[in-house]
Amino acid sequence: PESFLSVRDLKVRFSTEDGIVKAVDGLSFDVERGKTLGIVGESGSGKSVTNLTILGLHNPRTTTIEGEIVLDGQELVTAAEKDLERLRGNKMAMIFQDPLTALSPYYTVGRQLSEPFMKHTGASKKEARDRAVQMLEKVGIPQPKTRFDDYPHQFSGGMRQRAMIAMALMCDPDLLIADEPTTALDVTVQAQILDLLKDLQQEFGSAIIFITHDLGVIANMADDLLVMYAGRAVERGSTKEVLGRPSHPYTWGLLSSMPRLDGDINEELTPIPGSPPSLLNPPTGCPFHPRCAYKDQVAGTLCTDSRPPLAPGRAAACHLTAEQKQTIFIDKIQPR
Ligand code: SF4
Ligand code: MG
Repeated sequence: PESFLSVRDLKVRFSTEDGIVKAVDGLSFDVERGKTLGIVGESGSGKSVTNLTILGLHNPRTTTIEGEIVLDGQELVTAAEKDLERLRGNKMAMIFQDPLTALSPYYTVGRQLSEPFMKHTGASKKEARDRAVQMLEKVGIPQPKTRFDDYPHQFSGGMRQRAMIAMALMCDPDLLIADEPTTALDVTVQAQILDLLKDLQQEFGSAIIFITHDLGVIANMADDLLVMYAGRAVERGSTKEVLGRPSHPYTWGLLSSMPRLDGDINEELTPIPGSPPSLLNPPTGCPFHPRCAYKDQVAGTLCTDSRPPLAPGRAAACHLTAEQKQTIFIDKIQPR
């Protein structure tokens, strides 16, 4: 299958007062046209940084980027700012967790949808207005012609989220990056927004990168899954494979710390012990080793000394053998 977005050995480093933060440390993945890639991981795992890097939204003075990001044949790491700006206007768009980071309180929703569109496409005011009204209607805003002239504060939280999706769709993006797009919403509105995104993907054929810490949401949204930890991918595969037969201790931990949809509501959830590592001084070897309950099953000091590679395709970056993973999964993880 043709890979629409290809990321290879991406490294993103920030210079801070305390030293160099390795926010993303050798990440590779692909997204196909019309498909959704879910990226999961705790905060600080590098998911948001990766996506801001794809969009070219880092401060070049404090950020070093290495590796390759190729979107539909175009290399983005070395692209000039004006090319990135053009791509952000008509090839890729972002939906944030908080619509107020994308919508200004000072201008009407309609103006914020139509002005960038005029700028990027050379459309007339009337054409831009028509398109904005059409997009507001598509995302389910009632009376879009009237609502066009409302300010963001006149919208409910769910409607602002819809307006931001409409804004992202104005330019008919080929790549849509959604960063925790429903986290701030109540469960009913969240389900509506997720359904909306799926419908729009069908209609527009966009590739979507969906970033979340919620495996329940990802199960329902993503075709493929990338599990990130400490700026690296630790497990990858189709969502069905990864959630059906996870094979990395960190993924096991994520699964045991989430409520099952069919589960007893009183079921006890086990959070992963410990906290995510400092990216100023990442652990040696496997970055998960300080928190891993299974490292004693690996021979010698492999886990603390040697970084487990992530093979291409369906894979987990862990020194346990396939047999050990299978046994642990069947004995300890599956029956919960
Ligand atoms: Fe745990 Fe070792 Fe696998 Fe890392 S490589 S996840 S420390 S068993
Ligand atoms: Mg984030």
